[in-house]
Parts: sequence; structure tokens; C-alpha cells
Amino acid sequence: MATGARTIVNLLDGRERETGSSLQQAIDAAAVPGTLLLPEAQGAVRCVACGHRCLVRPGRRGICKVRYNEGGTLYVPAGYVAALQSDPIEKKPFFHVLPGTDCLTFGMLGCDFHCGYCQNWLTSQALRDPAAGVAPSRVTAEQLVEQALARGARTIGSSYNEPLITAEWAMDVFRRARPRGLRTAFISNGNATPEVLDYLQPHTDCYKIDFKAMKDAAYRQLGGVLAHVTDALRMVHERGFWLEVVTLVIPGFNDDPDDLHRMADILVAVSPDTPWHVTAFHQDYRMTDPRDTTAADLVRACEIGREAGLRYVYAGNLPGRVGPWEHTWCASCGERLIERCGYRILSQRIGSDGRCPSCRTAIPGIWA
Ligand code: SF4
Repeated sequence: MATGARTIVNLLDGRERETGSSLQQAIDAAAVPGTLLLPEAQGAVRCVACGHRCLVRPGRRGICKVRYNEGGTLYVPAGYVAALQSDPIEKKPFFHVLPGTDCLTFGMLGCDFHCGYCQNWLTSQALRDPAAGVAPSRVTAEQLVEQALARGARTIGSSYNEPLITAEWAMDVFRRARPRGLRTAFISNGNATPEVLDYLQPHTDCYKIDFKAMKDAAYRQLGGVLAHVTDALRMVHERGFWLEVVTLVIPGFNDDPDDLHRMADILVAVSPDTPWHVTAFHQDYRMTDPRDTTAADLVRACEIGREAGLRYVYAGNLPGRVGPWEHTWCASCGERLIERCGYRILSQRIGSDGRCPSCRTAIPGIWA
């Protein structure tokens, strides 16, 4: 799918706009000069959009393969989507953001990691894996905002591939979305830099980070560095984004109880109010050896998070099988505030004031 003739069609009117002989050429045709960079000698640039901080020389590409240096200018993706869908905000997952509303979610192509279990590998690995690839569709930032409003979404989010590597495009969209009353969300692997977080912060409300493992060796297997992600957890919280964290619990890869304890301790140090979603793995893409995660595995991970001091811990991907761990409970009086089954809201008792109706305790999150 990644080779052969390519046509870019406008997502909204279906009309053909451009053609290219490869997927790479097709998305390069829409690229624009980027801003997340530092100039270096001899026309090179240091890209600061993600923790890899690639030195990109003229004629070369970064690790993500979508940002490239042409004649001393760093070109970055813009003006297209490879995936667009209106989803429950609970699917991102954000459990403390406007429960029961939709998030119009857009994605592009490429990633700075190469996780063997990626559920979005068709888009994220499109430029690395000949079996991957989704035809891009041309769209403007204004059209995406109009789509979100037309579909009744309350939030617009960048996901499906790693949004850090396409941060300039997300900001084109978000800076138009906020004045129209939309909340904005980044759904990311957390391989961030201080520079990119400072760039995102003025236009971004919510930030989800995948905290994938506690061992650096495991992170390196995925193409990342543990310290970049633990630093990002702290930096995202310090900058005032609403942060929720996800750990896909993979038997034999990251489910050692001591590791889960240490991950929970790191999150408590960021803030005990950080929601932690521990979610179930199922065999996908190139990771087909570990067994699927059971409900008992998830409950054990939730209990570890609660013992560490996290106030909001959730079990995901096994709806109806994890007892109380899908719901939101008041950390003060124990009242059940939001009842869920998977992404469905069964009851919701937090009002726009964001308080528990029984004891008036403020519940952290975005409720209005
Ligand atoms: S986004 Fe990350 S991987 Fe891509 S060029 Fe920049 S630093 Fe390198």
C-alpha cells in the first residue's frame, strides 16, 4: 500500500487535488516550513518537536521520516489527514474531560516510535512498513474545525499517529478551534521536549501520555527513552495541561508488580489527582507472543495504583469485567460520581461546577 500511484483527495468534497508517485511524495507535497527547530551550522537544523532532537542536515529526514530538510529549511507535515473520526472522549481516553461528549479526532502519518503492538500501525508506521499506509486526504484547518462543530463534538484532538511530529499542524487547527468554543486535546506518546510543550501550551487543554514501561530497555525496544517520558509527565502537569496517563499492561513486558509500583509512584509525585488508565493488551501488529491481559491483571494493577496514592485509577478495554474500576468515585466521601461501561456513560453526577454533589469536594478535570 505504501508504493505505487498516489492521489490526494479532498476529504470533504471528494475532489482530486494532487498526485504523487509514492506516499512520501504525496505528503511532502503538502508540507510547509516548520517552526520547532534550532538552526545549526552548514544548513542543518536541530528539530525540537520530539525528544529525539534529530540533527537534520540538508537533503535528510528525521527519525520520524515526515520532517525533512530541503535547502536549509525544515519542512513539516500540514494540510492533510489520514484518519478522521468523531469518538467518545472516553476513548482517547479522557475520563475527567466533558464526560459523554464527542472528540473529533484527526491523524496524519508517521511516528517517532515503532511499537510492535501499535493499534494504529496503518497510519503510524506508514513510512517504515510496506504493509502499512493510508491514503492522505487534503483538508484545511478551518475545515476540520467546521467538521467538529457540524458533528456536535466538544473537543478536537490530534491522535492516530504521534502528534508531536506534526505539532505545527495541530496548532494551526487548535488556534482556530479554541475561539469557536472547542476544547483541544493531544493524544501522545510523551516523547516531548520543553520547547514543544511551551509551543503547544497556549492552545491545548488536555494531554494524554502513554507511560509504556518502567525499564529503559523496554522503551528502547519501542524506539524511545524512559527519561524523556517521565520528564514530560512532570512538564505537562507543571504547564497546566489537563493530564491523563495510560499504561497498556502487557504480560511479561511491563507488568512486573515492582515496575507498576514505581510507575504509580512517579505519577503520584506528578500529582495524586492524575488519572491513570491501565488498559488490556490484545495481540496486534508484530507483538503476538504475550498472552492477552486478563481482568485479574488489570484489577491488580489498579490496586497497585491506589495503594501508591493515586486517587483516580481506571481499568480499560475489558468493559463490564473489572468491577468498580471503570467508574469515577469521589476521593473524599466515596460517592460513585460517573458510572461507565467501556466508553458508555451510564450515569453522571458531576455538574458544571466540577464538584461531588454529596460532599462538594472539587473533582479534578474539565467539566464545563
Ligand atoms: S519530530 Fe522527532 S523524530 Fe521527527 S525530526 Fe523532529 S526530533 Fe526527529
